[in-house]
Amino acid sequence: MLYDVPRYITDLVPYPPGKPVEEVEREYGVKDPIKLASNENPLGPSPRAQEAIRNAISSIYRYPDGSCYYLKKRLSQLLGVSPAEIVVGNGSDDLIEFLIRVFVRPGREVITSRPSFLVYTKMVQAVGGSNVIIPLSRYHHDLEAILQAVTPKTRLIFLDNPNNPTGSTISQDEFDVFLEGLPRHLLVVLDEAYIDFARTRQTPRGTDYIRRDKRVIALRTFSKSYGLAGLRVGYGVMDREIALYLDRVRQPFNVNSLAQVGAIAALDDHEHLENTLNTVWQGIDFLTDALKDMGLKVMPSETNFVLVDIGRDARMVCEDMLREGVIVRGMGVYGLPDHIRITAGLPEENSRCIEALKKVLGNR
Ligand SMILES: *Cc1c(COP(=O)(O)O)cnc(C)c1O
Repeated sequence: MLYDVPRYITDLVPYPPGKPVEEVEREYGVKDPIKLASNENPLGPSPRAQEAIRNAISSIYRYPDGSCYYLKKRLSQLLGVSPAEIVVGNGSDDLIEFLIRVFVRPGREVITSRPSFLVYTKMVQAVGGSNVIIPLSRYHHDLEAILQAVTPKTRLIFLDNPNNPTGSTISQDEFDVFLEGLPRHLLVVLDEAYIDFARTRQTPRGTDYIRRDKRVIALRTFSKSYGLAGLRVGYGVMDREIALYLDRVRQPFNVNSLAQVGAIAALDDHEHLENTLNTVWQGIDFLTDALKDMGLKVMPSETNFVLVDIGRDARMVCEDMLREGVIVRGMGVYGLPDHIRITAGLPEENSRCIEALKKVLGNR
């Protein structure tokens, strides 16, 4: 032990990396592999965002606007909140980290569901806080059990709504009852990475709550429906006092200049968003039906991916899928070893995925 590193850091498990598409191509000797593993946009980035980024390239010798002035202004118009209620981050992962750094320290607790987005518990552990983990109940956030797990030490509750990896949502009524029972000192973070894909109206939108209830924080990202995952830009909407604290812990230039112009352009590209939603919804319906026809259990999804119970350990199945040139995500790290998660792709990609899965499952 050469270095003095706290136990909670040495115990951290690194985020499971995916393989670059080029590596899969080389290693498995397949042509044109398709990646349906990271919930990315099947149509790629908005053409308007691409153009805005090309036009801004010559300015990258300057530091970005550390206040994200224009992006916040545009978002505030769209969301009907003040720019002072918005904090922008290098992906919404950045916002998760800021919230945890501001509110959590050793001796404080954060409640999350399992399975849900893996970043929450990692960040809590990285600052020496305690994770209180509540199992999903029939693939849904168990809001009653979460309320019962609250203690005077609890500071934050993270709810990914819709949930990653199950694709489920909480209902509006359920959430309102939950807020009524929640002590004043607690903050609820609604992580809405997939909210644009939700077809049900019966689920809360965090941005509707900001003015009514200071305990609610909404996180959004440009990585999924806007197709800008590689740029790294997301934001949080929250009470302005909380926004001031987050501003104190973030790096002065946490959002790069291309991300800022790309995000602004993407927000105004309604056509691309609409095409994206239609492509994804069609893909979700196709995958859901095809997987059910194969006799597999598929969760109803309000996102751009489906969770499938394949009834056997998914690791070998994912390996075999790679040999067929289809990259999907095994759910072992989420605690669902018999499940895979498939991102909705283009129609031909979805068909190829189903054909590959039929072959792979038939072979075993
Ligand atoms: C993808 C995802 C995010 C965020 O991603 P960023 O790329 O960091 O904005 C946040 N929450 C959930 C549940 C996600 O699946």
